Amino acid sequence: MKIDKETIWHFNCAFCKGYWSIASMDNWKPKKLYCPHCGELNKADQIQNEK
Ligand SMILES: [Zn+2]
Repeated sequence: MKIDKETIWHFNCAFCKGYWSIASMDNWKPKKLYCPHCGELNKADQIQNEK
């Protein structure tokens, strides 16, 4: 049996205030992301709820 734990990352675009989320494994962390709404490049300089 294969079981994966899913982590959902939530993002707010700094440019258009658009909202989106990405499901990932535990060992992935966002660095730079293009907003799917406006296409601007967002940098993850502030990660909340990080343990
Ligand atoms: Zn945007």
